[in-house]
Amino acid sequence: MKIIIRTDLCNGCEKCVNTCFEVFHLWGMYLRSSFDVPDDTPFRVKIEKAALACPQKAIQVVPPFS
Ligand code: SF4
Repeated sequence: MKIIIRTDLCNGCEKCVNTCFEVFHLWGMYLRSSFDVPDDTPFRVKIEKAALACPQKAIQVVPPFS
């Protein structure tokens, strides 16, 4: 799956990092606007929670095509 972050909307609150550190700390380190996560990631639920927790609605999770 792919995670897309609208860096123009992000306010740097780090709720995503605090909700799913395992995945979003990498984004916080490199401030990439998109990055890939293995489709079988064990953090899928936490990733979705992080997207919902974003106050700026800046996180889009693109599921794998099947
Ligand atoms: S939760 Fe949203 S606004 Fe906050 S740092 Fe993450 S992407 Fe940016």
